[in-house]
Amino acid sequence: MSIKSAAAVSLAKFFGYLSCKIRKSKGQTLPGFIAKKIDGNILSDLSQQVRGDVFAVMGTNGKTTTNALLYGLLTKEGKKVVINRTGSNMLNGVISAFVLAAGNDGKLDADFACIEADEFASGSILPKMKVNYLIITNITRDQLDRMGEVDIVYDKVLEAVKNFDGTLVINGDDVLTYSLALESGKKFVTYGIDEQVFDEASRSEIRESTFCKRCGSRLKYNFFHYGQLGDYYCEECGIKRPEMDYAAKDIKITEDEIAFTVNGKRIEIRAKANYNIYNSLSVYALLDDAGIMNDEMIKGFAEFDFRNNRENVYHIGESDIQIHLVKNPIGFQQKVALIKKDESEKDVVILINDEYQDGQDVSWLWDVNFEELRNENIKSITATGKRCLDMCLRLKYEEIECAYDFDVENVVRGHIEKKNRNVYLIVNYTGLYSSNDMLERLKKEYEEGEK
Ligand SMILES: [Zn+2]
Repeated sequence: MSIKSAAAVSLAKFFGYLSCKIRKSKGQTLPGFIAKKIDGNILSDLSQQVRGDVFAVMGTNGKTTTNALLYGLLTKEGKKVVINRTGSNMLNGVISAFVLAAGNDGKLDADFACIEADEFASGSILPKMKVNYLIITNITRDQLDRMGEVDIVYDKVLEAVKNFDGTLVINGDDVLTYSLALESGKKFVTYGIDEQVFDEASRSEIRESTFCKRCGSRLKYNFFHYGQLGDYYCEECGIKRPEMDYAAKDIKITEDEIAFTVNGKRIEIRAKANYNIYNSLSVYALLDDAGIMNDEMIKGFAEFDFRNNRENVYHIGESDIQIHLVKNPIGFQQKVALIKKDESEKDVVILINDEYQDGQDVSWLWDVNFEELRNENIKSITATGKRCLDMCLRLKYEEIECAYDFDVENVVRGHIEKKNRNVYLIVNYTGLYSSNDMLERLKKEYEEGEK
């Protein structure tokens, strides 16, 4: 640790502290920005100080939950772990996480680090940071520009991975991620789901890369999980879903729990959505391959609260309001499946914005199969946010009734006042923080009103 790095850390921490005082920002990026200005090698310096492995998680869907689970299991073992939080997964956010974890002398006391990295920022993060393991959850089309984005993300991640000396942990059910691992020439382990557990609602017709990345032929599938994930093979060049190093088998799904066996170990998770099998499986694969997994840790899976990561439930008055983030068609399709699976009566609110982070083009809504929302247990659907009319139109096209109101708080207050018990609030990116803040505020207001 040079004097320059120590100065970078202490100054960055000081300004980070000031900025926190001035405005309550949840995504911390300023300390990283300052530290990087003072010392260009700061990320390398700090990550090298981590005593054990540094883990990174990338991919279109599931990275925040995966990273939080990894962090949860390690800290439960009493380890000191650096983590960057949601909204801080670009270069400055990653540096900030290390800076804020370090002491004022620039010394970092950490056993591990769990870093979520945005695919578009991967090229600026990976070469500068010590990384021992990199999970790639999947590469699917995100919300931004419809044409060719999957290929752009693929190339970005591939380029970033070229500077990487550790082990890739990849979703073998995803032909794109698997193709990338093969093309990179790096060491990798695979995980996948061996049984068909996703229902019709989540399978639906979104199949993005049905063409072989290697030879361009149309891929064939023995079965689909969802999106492009499934048991694929190419008749032309021979690429096919690999025999997984970590395969989920004997899957049992109940109302609130999912259990599966991987390499003889039974894992139980308290989650409602089946895609959390992937999130758990990737974490298991990584920790097992790294030699960290033990029987005590396996119990930690059952203690992890999947709902508290992005999928928060707020109890306000007599209403339970659960907030879910959707960023792309595949993610939205999973939420539609989740709503359908919930057999109790419910009201659904869908907030669609079109800020830069959301993707200004909302035509991706047409790639979601909403038919499954035509359901007698759904009492009402209300679209809100700047593009609520687009959302309404999309549902009208499916002959599903939909009200609209540009003001989300109005809609939510209405449900609370009517004492509607089960409310789903589906939001896209920029709606997440503002809705969380709004719900926190309403919760306080109601709690104070009760006193
Ligand atoms: Zn092929």
